Amino acid sequence: AAETALTAKVDGSAVAGLALAAAGSRHMFGVVGIPVTSLASRAAAAGVRFLAFRNEQSAGYAAAAYGFLTGTPGLLLTVSGPGCVHGLAGLSHATANAWPLLMVSGSCAQSDVGRGDFQELDQIAATKPFAKLTVKAPSIVDIPRLVFQALAATVAGRPGGCYLDIPSDVLHQTLTQSEADALIAAAAADSAASSSAPPKHKSLDEGIVKAAELLHRAERPLVVFGKGAAYARAEETIQKLVDTTGIPFLPTPMGKGVVPDSHPLSATAARSLAIGQCDVALIVGARLNWLLHFGEPPKWSKDVKFILVDVNEDEIELRKPHLGLVGDAKRVVELINREIKDQPFCLARSHPWVDAITKKSKDNVLKMEAQLAKDVVPFNFMTPLRIIRDAILAEGSPAPIVVSEGANTMDVGRAVLVQNEPRTRLDAGTWGTMGVGLGYCIAAAVAEPKRLVVAVEGDSGFGFSAMEVETLVRYQLPVVVIVFNNNGVYGGDRRSPEELTGPYKDDPAPTSFVPAAGYHKMMEAFGGKGYLAETPDELKSALLESFRARKPAVINVIIDPYAGAESGRMQHKN
Ligand code: ADP
Repeated sequence: AAETALTAKVDGSAVAGLALAAAGSRHMFGVVGIPVTSLASRAAAAGVRFLAFRNEQSAGYAAAAYGFLTGTPGLLLTVSGPGCVHGLAGLSHATANAWPLLMVSGSCAQSDVGRGDFQELDQIAATKPFAKLTVKAPSIVDIPRLVFQALAATVAGRPGGCYLDIPSDVLHQTLTQSEADALIAAAAADSAASSSAPPKHKSLDEGIVKAAELLHRAERPLVVFGKGAAYARAEETIQKLVDTTGIPFLPTPMGKGVVPDSHPLSATAARSLAIGQCDVALIVGARLNWLLHFGEPPKWSKDVKFILVDVNEDEIELRKPHLGLVGDAKRVVELINREIKDQPFCLARSHPWVDAITKKSKDNVLKMEAQLAKDVVPFNFMTPLRIIRDAILAEGSPAPIVVSEGANTMDVGRAVLVQNEPRTRLDAGTWGTMGVGLGYCIAAAVAEPKRLVVAVEGDSGFGFSAMEVETLVRYQLPVVVIVFNNNGVYGGDRRSPEELTGPYKDDPAPTSFVPAAGYHKMMEAFGGKGYLAETPDELKSALLESFRARKPAVINVIIDPYAGAESGRMQHKN
């Protein structure tokens, strides 16, 4: 029988599934159809769980978030042509956020290229602008090698998206099982050999000494960390740095939780002061892009000295910091910790800089808490966010993963919701991508099965991926989706009188949706649990019940349509 098993034929779909499993992949997200339906089941049979979505865009966002959460490539499977085009959303989002993702797509038969075949597209050209590496398997024998190579490329250096194209004729070619096994073993051996080669890093010794000196001599030092530090699992080393030096810290939105938000040295509530007045800023795994105001005045002082820690040398070239340290965030911060040993920098009983930040933080927190304490009905954004924050904190550890998108919902949510554990916040990210919500939820639920997943979504953001509530029910994932329903993008009609003229003046505003939509009923349509919450008591009881149940739920929270601001907090960009 063993003999027959080895001489039995396996096709390209099976070889791809086996190679992915052999390379360590455990989950794949996607939408099946010609020519990849069999690939999904073959991969599952080999041990790669396939999560079947309703739309490739959401599956792509899932794969991207999975890459961030696990530090291993998220897999996205798409069909040819239009499926591949929809998948570009996830591929590009992953690359923009520096998260590892491998998109695997079927494509039309090689012999029919150029003749208008079913779903024909030059998929290599389509994916190239968004991928670190694009490869096509011209024959079944190439699949194992390319799977290993493309997976490795997603995590090498700055993580990002890669693309593997498998034409339908290649998916249908066959080999014997023993030939397939041999090809996979050889690809695994090659991959292991190339990853054990020592990385060619420049020596960091001099840079580390300089960094420690700069921090030591600084009068107003600041540590800033981003989602690159979270990805690098640098939480312990960064927390040690903060604790031993007493330097205040500021996380970017998805850096939140690398050091707990509740830590006394958090400068989040004194952000403008901290970045406006610091004289030396150690930036770890965060780009000096729009999110950090390009590191320029007037938000930052013109004399600030940046020490930039990034795995990507090009990033350092681009920003031209005072001091650049190329390397893994965890390793570099470990070296800095070693260099500064236990010298306290800012730990004097009274340090003017730390005192100023602490005082400003306390004042701002008190102001916000006063706002939050009020029960405003009809709901503004603050009241339900406070109730949600408290319900999430009551869960303790392991903390729920919070997914957040929307304009006002995400902006206000970022200030109110608390992250005390790393990689527990997923939001619109570097690109401000809306529509990520449900895909993120599904990825979080399968990547971190011990954690509850709570999505806090604007009604607009939710709408992009709302059909995936069916996916939540199908897989019975512990995800509670809270929709902030304020009747539209930014809320009710925001048009100025000049905009309310012309032949279509009676059309609904481009920002508006059907008022008081029954989003909770969408979940009920599939057998999940739906709640409508218009008062604090209704919201509290919906949260209590749904958090306890750990089953798919949608809570439709009715918000005053005039509570939000246009563009959230980015008015100047619209
Ligand atoms: P944020 O949006 O949180 O500010 P960014 O996505 O802008 O974060 O920046 C993350 C940075 O982290 C990227 O420049 C990326 O190259 C870098 N990075 C990714 N992985 C690592 C790592 N292991 N060590 C250090 N830096 C990393």
